[in-house]
Amino acid sequence: MRVPVALLWLLAAPVALAQTPSAEDPAMAACLPGLVARAREQGVTPALAEAQLSGLAADPDVLAATRKQAEFEKPVWAYLDAAVSEEAVTDGRAKLVSEASLPAIEAAYGVDRHVLVAIWGIESGYGSVLDDPRKVRPVLRSLATLACAGDKRAATWTEELVAALRILDLGRTTPERLTGSWAGAMGHTQFMPTTYLRHALDFDGDGRADIWTSAPDALASTAQYLRTLGWRPGEGWGGEVVLPAGFDYRLADETTSRTLAEWRALGLRPAGREIGIDTDTARLVLPAGARGPAFLLRPNFGALLGYNTAFSYALAVAHLSDRLRGEPGFVQAWPRGDRPLSNDERREIQTVLEAKGHPVGGVDGRIGPRSRAAIRAWQAAEGLVPDGYADSTLLDRLRAGN
Ligand code: CA
Repeated sequence: MRVPVALLWLLAAPVALAQTPSAEDPAMAACLPGLVARAREQGVTPALAEAQLSGLAADPDVLAATRKQAEFEKPVWAYLDAAVSEEAVTDGRAKLVSEASLPAIEAAYGVDRHVLVAIWGIESGYGSVLDDPRKVRPVLRSLATLACAGDKRAATWTEELVAALRILDLGRTTPERLTGSWAGAMGHTQFMPTTYLRHALDFDGDGRADIWTSAPDALASTAQYLRTLGWRPGEGWGGEVVLPAGFDYRLADETTSRTLAEWRALGLRPAGREIGIDTDTARLVLPAGARGPAFLLRPNFGALLGYNTAFSYALAVAHLSDRLRGEPGFVQAWPRGDRPLSNDERREIQTVLEAKGHPVGGVDGRIGPRSRAAIRAWQAAEGLVPDGYADSTLLDRLRAGN
């Protein structure tokens, strides 16, 4: 007999949410007392920490999600396709009209409403995932699972777990409502517990900073947080640019800020709207190398990276905010034919570069700014276009020259 999927969910839900006796999870049973002790040291009421953590079993879905995240790194265009879909644009434009708190939040905090709505859309589908039991789970169990998993981020997960317990201790919400993603990110704009404690605020005036059920609270908290991350009122994030023929790609080093007048003198021009005034500063980034679009990024892009350090995330927020405002897609196409590199292949690129005297700042399978700088240096030394892009062609060339 086939059981409908929806019925399986009904059958599975009580088991998944129940606190399985710790005797069935000896690794957690051995780990939890240390977490309770840590919470007590940090000032959480001992009885509360004991009651909330004792008997928790590890969540296998959380462990599976962390393994999956480590293995796969989506190309930037694949992330953008999913995050800045036509549906996301349509739904976001509807939210710009229906969410009545946005003008007041924009006026109070100086953060563009289109950016706030873009973050809302990418973090939680404008709140729609918060009702999905497959995506939303108890934060304490997720964070205890991660804190006890024995990886190098255990101290960070423990700090977040203690912050989550403090949220309960302060009476900000109930254990039943303390829900979030597999990594413990909570509410409409996915605040980690430590971020909640530092930045969550009450905007709708009911006296509670409720980022789980109040969109005005979550959006205002996000605006306030972006200001602390350096968001500059009245400025944009940057924009796409077209590079001149024969451009020296070593100038696209991601870090050197030049004025827009200086960039123009180097031959750059906006692909669409203007990016700022002559004296504004920006840095040049080519996330998919010389064959993909180029961007001049203003300081506000850095505030988005403070919210989430993934470049693809920040670019998706920036681009969705433009699309919500009615601007078109990027002019230059992405190199979509490229085969995504596996974690092992990215590590191989880093290992070979290190061996050739171009330090990448640690072989970790993540091609970040240090790795791209090393790639540019090697490409320049080899007489190749120094665009810092890690693709299968680069891997083949590094292997051939090894
Ligand atoms: Ca409130």
